[in-house]
Amino acid sequence: MPEARPKLTDFRAGITAIDTDYVRPGLAAAHLVVDSGRAAFVDTGTTLSLPNLMSALAAKDVDPADVDWVLTTHVHLDHAGGAGALMQRLPNARCAVHPRGARHLAEPSKLIAGSIAVYGEERYRALYGEIVPIDEDRLFVPADGASITLGTRVLELIHTPGHALHHYCVVDRDHELIFSGDTFGISYRDFDVDGREFIMPTTTPVHFDPEALCASVDRLMSYGPRSIFLTHYAEVRDLPRLARQMKERVRAFADLGRRHAPARDRASELRHGMFALLGEWLDEHGFPRDDAKRHYLLDDDVELNCQGVEHWLDRK
Ligand SMILES: [Zn+2]
Repeated sequence: MPEARPKLTDFRAGITAIDTDYVRPGLAAAHLVVDSGRAAFVDTGTTLSLPNLMSALAAKDVDPADVDWVLTTHVHLDHAGGAGALMQRLPNARCAVHPRGARHLAEPSKLIAGSIAVYGEERYRALYGEIVPIDEDRLFVPADGASITLGTRVLELIHTPGHALHHYCVVDRDHELIFSGDTFGISYRDFDVDGREFIMPTTTPVHFDPEALCASVDRLMSYGPRSIFLTHYAEVRDLPRLARQMKERVRAFADLGRRHAPARDRASELRHGMFALLGEWLDEHGFPRDDAKRHYLLDDDVELNCQGVEHWLDRK
């Protein structure tokens, strides 16, 4: 089913989306931002994504020494797993990581154990390769609202809990855009229908918090962005509609969890229910009723989301 597609996609404001080859094409993007000869990566993919990131620098004629920042929106491995290996190739970069994530990048063993718990040992190895720690003196740990500069632009790093407690988003006020990591959910380009974007929450374990996530979506929208760049996947623009649906859908996942909480086979009922709910939204969206394709595109997210919802139910 995978089709050949470009690894690099250029957008406005010096932004390039780089496919990180995580799981399947079109699932995860790192972003390269170039401003006045200086560069930053927003998210890195995994260690196995490194060749794509280095080719993107070459394609944009940026010397690795001119990369100032590696911005890891949060420390989940599809976003920051490659940060250590990448930092070894970027002599002058600093890596910005949320206060709650910093120790995990400096000492990744707990992160690795957590991911093996979610994916199992074999899949973990195939997905992530080797995780390289980052020297603490190369980490920048931003307080909520901290500003950094890249070339001539100022980027604000704002804490956005809900998907993960160690999550921040990157706000570029001058260009009216935000890099949202996973806070604004997932919008695979595979789900676009006549250019119309589809949105769904990502509720990965272990910090999913529905009301915090909705508040973070509102906070992003309070900046009045024209575009939001998602790790999954790249630019979305129909923002007021997507923000409304994102919040409705976060609450729908939470309701689904509450409804199935007492079930004897909670895990499987929840997975059935979530796939059905996503199916209803895709029907409304006008996406073809092709079950094989829907399973191909959704099954991994349904599994992760359900694990996250169950974790939230158990915490409550
Ligand atoms: Zn993610």
